[in-house]
Amino acid sequence: MKAQVREVVNECAGELVALSHAIHEHPELAFEEHFASSALCDALEGHGIAVERPAFGLDTAFIARVGDGDGPNVAICCEYDALPEVGHACGHNVIATAGLGAGIAAAAVVEQAGGRLTILGTPAEERAGGKIMMAEKGAFADVDVAMMVHPAGVDLLAPQMLAMTQLDVRAHGKEAHAAAFPWRGVNALDAIVLGYMGVAALRQHIHPTERVHGIITRGGDASNVVPKLAAARFNVRSETEERLDALKARVLACFEGAAAAAGCELEHRFLGPYSDLVTNPALAEAYRRNAEELGRRFVDPATLTTRAMGSTDMGNVSKLVPSIHPMIAVAPPNVPLHTAEFAGHAVSEAADQAVVDGASALAMTAVDVWTDPDPGGFRGAASSRR
Ligand SMILES: [Zn+2]
Ligand SMILES: [Zn+2]
Repeated sequence: MKAQVREVVNECAGELVALSHAIHEHPELAFEEHFASSALCDALEGHGIAVERPAFGLDTAFIARVGDGDGPNVAICCEYDALPEVGHACGHNVIATAGLGAGIAAAAVVEQAGGRLTILGTPAEERAGGKIMMAEKGAFADVDVAMMVHPAGVDLLAPQMLAMTQLDVRAHGKEAHAAAFPWRGVNALDAIVLGYMGVAALRQHIHPTERVHGIITRGGDASNVVPKLAAARFNVRSETEERLDALKARVLACFEGAAAAAGCELEHRFLGPYSDLVTNPALAEAYRRNAEELGRRFVDPATLTTRAMGSTDMGNVSKLVPSIHPMIAVAPPNVPLHTAEFAGHAVSEAADQAVVDGASALAMTAVDVWTDPDPGGFRGAASSRR
């Protein structure tokens, strides 16, 4: 069956790569991924796979179910959202089409393997977390294992993905003519700037794997009016959700103290959180064997200066079902994600090869799950969560 899935992926390699490039040429932001979502659904239907779209209350989400065996239900996740200004700088065109290829190939053997297959289109990974919303509506309720592959500068089996929340703060002050009556004003921008500086000071005293970073989203409307409203958006990340709770409180305190100093009222809300990623060891080992058989070589995490790659809503999925989220190389190791440079690499020859290899390795891993003589093997390993 593994030979069979590889053959299917190779047969549709041209189609997968063309679609990867087409999605890359049409970068769409979170929840607006109409082109990508439709193109993926059309491709699945073209291969005789029925698709439900939209799904789980999200316009650009979809689900396809294949097979009705007693064996495990393997879910393959396709992401396809892009970033403002830099487009597909996270290479989700590669995730989408590797997932598509894996789905088409795994569907070809699922009946024979006696398992079940679920192909999920999961919007808005870069903002808000489509998978979290889908999970709340039961997208993973009957799933036994979930997998996807994400592009990067190296092949890395178990990237560290941090728990993350988004903090939105708004400071409310009072407007005044900035020259004629400045003493009548209460400056909301001061509150936000002092909060920003407070976070900068805090950073010396957080753990090396923790991250706090943000932007000022509103700083006033005219330089001669004391700003009555100013706002900022920050991401707060830590290794675990427990540690994240503690860090959230420290970051919020920076803005609360700043608002008090500036005499402003502070309004805040936390969004998320994205959970840290728990890689299932048995599934990861199966993926490693399959990817190595395709000629891919994994980097030893000990040789990396940092294992932390970011955060993902796949982390939340990994807390529900055994999951993997390996990284697959499409660029040289020193090219950072979320840059225009990385976006260029997401349609390189290496990226095209990653689409094909990622599709094959995921489909081969699905075969491993379906044919595992010890059906508790993958599911049982979930209990070894760190
Ligand atoms: Zn990404
Ligand atoms: Zn990203």
